[in-house]
Amino acid sequence: MTTTKNETLGESGERKEDVKRQKLMEDDDDFEKNQALVKEEVVDVHSLMRPYYAHIFPSKQLFEWLSYEGATSSKESRKDQQQFIQNREFCFTLKGEIFVRYNSYQDEKSLRKDLKTKVPGKIDIGPVFSHNPKNRLAYGGSFKPVERELVFDIDMTDYDDVRTCCDQAKICPKCWPLMNCAVKVLDVGLREDFGFEHILWVYSGRRGIHAWVCDERARKLSDEERSAVAEYFSVFKGVEGGGEKKKTNLSFGSGKRAWGGGKMHPRLEEAYWKVLKPFWEKEFLPAQKLMESKKHFETILSMIPDANVRQKAEFDFNTNKMPTVSRDGDVDVNTWRWQRIVKAVEDELRGPKVNWDLTSCLQRIIFSHVYPRLDAEVSKHMNHLLKAPFCVHPKTGRVCVPIDPENCDAFDPFSSDAPKVHELLQEYKKFGADENAVKKTAMGKALETFERCFWSKLKVANEEEKKKKMMMNNNNVLNESNKNSNAAADMEF
Ligand SMILES: [Zn+2]
Repeated sequence: MTTTKNETLGESGERKEDVKRQKLMEDDDDFEKNQALVKEEVVDVHSLMRPYYAHIFPSKQLFEWLSYEGATSSKESRKDQQQFIQNREFCFTLKGEIFVRYNSYQDEKSLRKDLKTKVPGKIDIGPVFSHNPKNRLAYGGSFKPVERELVFDIDMTDYDDVRTCCDQAKICPKCWPLMNCAVKVLDVGLREDFGFEHILWVYSGRRGIHAWVCDERARKLSDEERSAVAEYFSVFKGVEGGGEKKKTNLSFGSGKRAWGGGKMHPRLEEAYWKVLKPFWEKEFLPAQKLMESKKHFETILSMIPDANVRQKAEFDFNTNKMPTVSRDGDVDVNTWRWQRIVKAVEDELRGPKVNWDLTSCLQRIIFSHVYPRLDAEVSKHMNHLLKAPFCVHPKTGRVCVPIDPENCDAFDPFSSDAPKVHELLQEYKKFGADENAVKKTAMGKALETFERCFWSKLKVANEEEKKKKMMMNNNNVLNESNKNSNAAADMEF
């Protein structure tokens, strides 16, 4: 998407939309009518969006978060605050894939009103600009993005070469754990290596996850700094010609020093032992059956730089050698064949003529299969749009709900953890007369996760930041008035 294209689309979209909006406003905003669709289980997602925005979508929470403010305290800060939120871009995708960019709102009420009239199928959040994006044309070259969350996008389609269960947009319980692996590795890296504290993890509604890093320091990163952070996490570098060999940018100590651990970057070392290796052996290999698939088995072999080890592994594969229950225990054949490769590598390394290239090959294989694969371009630019949390995925009808990073294994995207919009509306109708109806639906759980894992801490940090700024302002005022009274005193002499 280029700005020019979007702008043109946006402007023509807005014109078409005026007509459409008029029509929608004439329609009866009738909840019951949409319920008929729900009963028939016809998931026409778009027709359910208006009641969703009217009754369930948490625009208050979204707006409060993106305002980065608690209660305002002085006239000046109130004005700054309003300016700040008004300069944030909201992009709507309307029916017919019409992008309407550069919407902005002064408060939650005006956002909700616009959602109910325009009924976007998707909402994207852009940066905070130097000026109100609605008036961007008046500012020419001085209109530019000044701040936005550091965001990450991980999409299951980027793992197609290591998945045997699904491809493209499909996901299933066998491949979804790759996303949990990504959350665990990135969350620790962002917190411990970069010191970020306010990270919101969100299910994208279909085949991936997003992270929003909201610390003030992260929001103010330049594009160059964002690129550096994205590069830091871009360990997997793609697949070599013919799809045979996977590339990583892991660097190891060379020769004998590299063996026995502790020689990779400490964060990668930790990710390897705590997350990637156990996941690869216990979950991923049995689920994907990579050691039973000729294609995947050969890819793994192509990364082992030793003919003896390869021969032993090929023998197991070609003779269909299986673990013996009495001797090996009840172990999955894929895990077992991998363990035999590990043993063969270790044996070689103890031998008289050591091939030191072997020392890192097992790590390289694991990293190149299960280490998080970022869509780094999304992270690199302040001006990149990203789908808003709590919006509904137009293809699946599932809501983009927050994920608790400390308990991500428990999140099941195939269940009411990621509720479908028609189910939510059904639930809501049951509790409709209750003022806490939304909390009683599956959205209640999503909002609880948002509050507990993200917003409660950020709210406190915002308050503290505000107090600090107020004190600084007061000190400045005090210094200024002291200066003035000293000047007046000087005048008297
Ligand atoms: Zn799958």
